[in-house]
Amino acid sequence: MGECLGCKKKLGVFEGYTDSDGEYCKNCFPKRKSILKLKEITEKEEKKRIEKKLKEEERNDKLGKRIYKQKASGYIEEVGIGFNGWAFFFGPLWFLVKGMIGMMLLVFIGNLLIASFFGWIGSILFCIIIGATANRTHEDHLIKKGYSILKPKRK
Ligand SMILES: [Zn+2]
Repeated sequence: MGECLGCKKKLGVFEGYTDSDGEYCKNCFPKRKSILKLKEITEKEEKKRIEKKLKEEERNDKLGKRIYKQKASGYIEEVGIGFNGWAFFFGPLWFLVKGMIGMMLLVFIGNLLIASFFGWIGSILFCIIIGATANRTHEDHLIKKGYSILKPKRK
């Protein structure tokens, strides 16, 4: 007959295995089959991965988030956009959770001082300012730690 498409070996009569693109010897045929199978699996997984990523992006879009990544570690951080209700309600605790210790102390002491000078109205105003600036502060903090923005999501 012809020759093997894999190793170019001459094939005797009835020696070749026919595939979609031609004939292969008994060594190359199973190799080719497993490569095709592997390719199929990889393509399927790649498709799944892309679909998942698109869904995630859509979700983030709806939530209005920005994604930051630290190049050295590969860590991902999400930052909200607009007013941050968690920072408004939990103030210093929120900054502690996000690893901004300096800001935690600043907000804690600042709120005590403002409350003692201006009462609860002053304290609430202070919390509103904190809620309104928290996401921006968080972004600055991440940038200082070597994060850079992956997806700027703006509403
Ligand atoms: Zn061969």
